Amino acid sequence: MKKLFIDIGGTHLRSEVCSDNEIIKESVSSNDTGLLFYIDQQMKLHPSIDFIGISYAGQVDKGVIISAPNINIDKYEITSEVKQRYGIALEIDNDLNCALRAEAAYWKSSNIAALYIGTGIGAAVIDQGILIKGNANMAFEIGHIPYRETPLVCGCGRNNCVELYASGSGMAKWLRHYGSRLEPVLSQLKIGSDRNERLIVSEFEEALLHAAGVLVTLANPEILVLGGGVIEQNPYLATLLREKLRHYALSPALQGLRIEISVLENAPLMGAKLLERHHG
Ligand SMILES: [Zn+2]
Repeated sequence: MKKLFIDIGGTHLRSEVCSDNEIIKESVSSNDTGLLFYIDQQMKLHPSIDFIGISYAGQVDKGVIISAPNINIDKYEITSEVKQRYGIALEIDNDLNCALRAEAAYWKSSNIAALYIGTGIGAAVIDQGILIKGNANMAFEIGHIPYRETPLVCGCGRNNCVELYASGSGMAKWLRHYGSRLEPVLSQLKIGSDRNERLIVSEFEEALLHAAGVLVTLANPEILVLGGGVIEQNPYLATLLREKLRHYALSPALQGLRIEISVLENAPLMGAKLLERHHG
């Protein structure tokens, strides 16, 4: 039997069809076709698929898609629909939870937190081997903790989220606010000629320290793994956290803490494969 694993990000859909843990087909496409449409196509090509695991760049809960800012949603009740159409199991979780499952397997840790920074800033926590989901799979939604009031509007509709400072989209909003033409890239803003551009960098760093301090104080992980595009391009941020986090977190929560940068190439897709363990 074959298995289909899908990672749907903000712009692309990556998938692998596997048979006995061997990848027999890999593909990358745009994410705008709709997930159910894509699954229908794959089921026609590979009728012997008997499990589907999905990492999803949006909010999902108990097999149902709730919302996604950048993805065309053609079916919300995706798990029950696929069960009905094909009689097979489908497991879906958000991309950060999937990534953290892969990180936990890689670092061999059962007390691990992930802090990923790209367009947004997100966190996930595994405690004593259990992924913390919360009532609606919204636990540790760190990007939207109140931080400081701004003249900007967050994707969630409020104006004081930490994501408005410590994320790619936050930096882009500040640049528009200041009328700057620079791209939201830390290394370029750092050497910007304009005081406001340089300010975006120091405020990014301060907000990152705040978010990481809250996460570590609340979750008390053994490993804090950093990932996402902004971290990949700015590995100095790990050093910054190692040096300064003690000023932002409760000190007993820092004892034995390791701060690492993710080395996984596609953690969400790897995590989608681990979803299979959870269905029974
Ligand atoms: Zn927000």
